[in-house]
Amino acid sequence: MTQPTANIGVVGLAVMGSNLARNLASREGNTVAVYNRSYEKTETLLTEHPEAGFVATQDYAEFAAALQKPRTAIIMVQAGRGTDAVIDALTEVFEPGDIIVDGGNALFTDTIRREKAVRETGINFVGAGISGGEEGALLGPSIMPGGSAEAWVTLKPILESIAAVAEGEPCVTHIGTDGAGHFVKMIHNGIEYADMQLIAEGYDLLRRVGGLDPAEIADIFAEWNTGELESYLIEITAEVLRQVDAETGKPLVDVILDQAGAKGTGAWTVKSALDLGVPVSGIAEAVFARSLSSKPAQRTASSGMPAGAEEWQVTDRDSFIEDVRRALFASKIVAYSQGFDAIVAGAEEFGWSIEKGDIAKIWRAGCIIRARFLNRITEAYAEQPDLVALLTAPYFADAVGGALPSWRRVVAGAALAGIPTPAFASSLSYYDGLRADRLPAALIQGQRDFFGAHTYKRVDKDGTFHTLWSGDR
Ligand code: NAP
Repeated sequence: MTQPTANIGVVGLAVMGSNLARNLASREGNTVAVYNRSYEKTETLLTEHPEAGFVATQDYAEFAAALQKPRTAIIMVQAGRGTDAVIDALTEVFEPGDIIVDGGNALFTDTIRREKAVRETGINFVGAGISGGEEGALLGPSIMPGGSAEAWVTLKPILESIAAVAEGEPCVTHIGTDGAGHFVKMIHNGIEYADMQLIAEGYDLLRRVGGLDPAEIADIFAEWNTGELESYLIEITAEVLRQVDAETGKPLVDVILDQAGAKGTGAWTVKSALDLGVPVSGIAEAVFARSLSSKPAQRTASSGMPAGAEEWQVTDRDSFIEDVRRALFASKIVAYSQGFDAIVAGAEEFGWSIEKGDIAKIWRAGCIIRARFLNRITEAYAEQPDLVALLTAPYFADAVGGALPSWRRVVAGAALAGIPTPAFASSLSYYDGLRADRLPAALIQGQRDFFGAHTYKRVDKDGTFHTLWSGDR
């Protein structure tokens, strides 16, 4: 029998797996064993990248035999049944002490279930969220591993070597046990949905109200990318808006069908937040906005309905553009604040010890929501580890406070003009809800007590009360 030569293995060689395998192979000291269910993908990878020195394998037994002990394998396959099939196969050929890392976009509750089942075999299972798309996988992603502290000791140098680097620090940290990594990756994706929707709403206003064309808006986004809004998503938005369709000569954005797709992680974020009782309203509106866009029959049936709108007269275009920028920044802060609220609630519910500041740190590079202001989040949690809401940290409270007149003008103007801004509007409403001294929730408690004797509490004394309403029979 030949000696095992690989110190790490990758299962699943579609775009993410092959790029991650190449990333691993490019690091000093790594020899990477690769396996894919259908051998064609393995052959293609070997042919296209002979420099990587991959150890190709044709079945799981050969894959296990190629790996030095304790074996470490990263799975990058279709999330769901694909992941379960690979885990089942690997647990047959791996031994206690070996490590299986699922780098796919698994639902965190699946990861909790898998970790528990695999642990019984003595094998370590680590669910690791990996963000950055195919380019990130190749050049350095942001990595969010869960799993045991014991597995992290082995994985740390490997994952640090392939992760993106921000200000000299690798964008990977042990998030917490079992499903913590995939939970945080899920919230990352939820924030990404909100961020993208907010940018899209800003673009829509600049176009429809400001009368700017896509190339002009591209210049504005490029300019915004030099300030506090600096981020990957703002940067690529400028590039998308600048793109011209070769066939028609029109801006590409005008020939792309306006129906947004989704792979499910935004919906997972919202469902989990509902279960945890955390209002992630900006993220939810972003998910619903994609759903609404993808209902052509309803949109066609409704398109002739009256707008009852007023024309939005922009007298000073520069001030209008600045209003939109500020509304975008304030709403973005709300999305992050809500996302971190969900992380705090998830950590409490599932018993994870999560360092919020470290999460903002590992999102600074490699991932889709990388942004300049993440440093501010790290600072906010460093100053106040028990910060009750990110929104209330001095930097963010000041930023939102300064944006308020602009934010209100934008939301009110859009409502009057009949332009949908679900994420801008819901974020402002959330902010107003949080800061309100008194909410109409008191009336809801009254209604609940009226029809269901659900009782209520009073502002002036302790205890639980029920009123004998006139409607009681
Ligand atoms: P994918 O299209 O999600 O999955 C295709 C891969 O899964 C192929 O290698 C396929 O093997 C394998 N596979 C499916 N069912 C299998 C089974 N029952 N047994 C063994 N292998 C099976 O690939 P991807 O886009 O590279 O993504 C990989 C993972 O990364 C996914 O979980 C995805 O959600 C996650 N992810 C993707 C991105 C992205 O930007 N694409 C970003 C972050 C995370 P065959 O070739 O034999 O069919």
